Amino acid sequence: MSRSGIVVVGSLNADLTIYTERLPQPGETVHGNGFAVNPGGKSANQAVAASKLGGNVTLIGAVGDDANGTMLLESTAGAGVDVSRVRRCDTATGVAVISVDARGENSIIISAGANGTLAPADVDFDAFRDAAVVCLCLEVGIDTVVAAAQAGHDAGAAVLLNLSPYAEVPELLAGLADVLLVNAHEAALFLGSEAGIPDPDAAVEAWEPVRSRFADRGLQRVLVTLGAQGSVVLDSLALGGQLTRIAPTQVSAVDTTGAGDAFTGAVAARLAAGDSLVAAASFASVAAALAATKKGTQAAYPTLEQVQAAQP
Ligand code: ATP
Repeated sequence: MSRSGIVVVGSLNADLTIYTERLPQPGETVHGNGFAVNPGGKSANQAVAASKLGGNVTLIGAVGDDANGTMLLESTAGAGVDVSRVRRCDTATGVAVISVDARGENSIIISAGANGTLAPADVDFDAFRDAAVVCLCLEVGIDTVVAAAQAGHDAGAAVLLNLSPYAEVPELLAGLADVLLVNAHEAALFLGSEAGIPDPDAAVEAWEPVRSRFADRGLQRVLVTLGAQGSVVLDSLALGGQLTRIAPTQVSAVDTTGAGDAFTGAVAARLAAGDSLVAAASFASVAAALAATKKGTQAAYPTLEQVQAAQP
């Protein structure tokens, strides 16, 4: 039997979201026009996105023995995610305090809480036996991320590493990543590129320094997301590289919070289903754009049928 599972190892947060006309400057107070508590956390979001798109998803994480923890377990399980390996502990569930302005732009502060207790010992090799893809981000301790990447690698799964929120990572972790997924900001930080990342439609030559620096860091396949400008797939980096631009899916964005997680979960789902990286990114572009048309994160994520109906 071929492997098809997706193991997501990482964070679950309660998203405390306030909507406002514009984000405050430092020292400034502005009025909000709505407040909501919703399930979130990059890994929980990515797990839910992948599951709603047909993935067979197991989540490894930690929540507190509190109301937010119960909400998160119910929301992820309700989306079809196997949460039997999400540990409850006596540290409060993680929270993210999110502000969203009238243009759909956001700013976010995270308090790790229970996510900070997730440890390499939580990475049980048994969970990886049927894994085709292991999906990781940096909202939990780096030792845990490395242990999960190693377990996924040893089990023969493709390791999808989302370098978010950005942190320096050990060379070992970069070397274990079969696919690195970064937004433009994270890509520039990872590469130490003061010039930033080129426009997606810039000439191939403009992307050459980016390709060679990713290759120097030992990476073979990188997906750079560029918000409303779409994304770029860089493949076969050590062999001179192949650049594919994925056009954005045109939508009227209401809230882009969690669009990156919808994109990552969709890539995981399609890689696990056997798609190429370019096909997975094209599919994810539609899924993430649909997610941006509704407020919130998990509840805004589309189903497989909705993405198929919206595909060009
Ligand atoms: P976030 O942290 O806000 O979840 P991110 O910075 O990780 O997002 P982005 O590059 O902003 O990730 O977005 C990920 C993908 O989502 C993009 O590559 C694109 O495919 C899609 N997307 C984001 N914003 C829009 C938009 N306004 N219109 C259409 N697609 C969008």
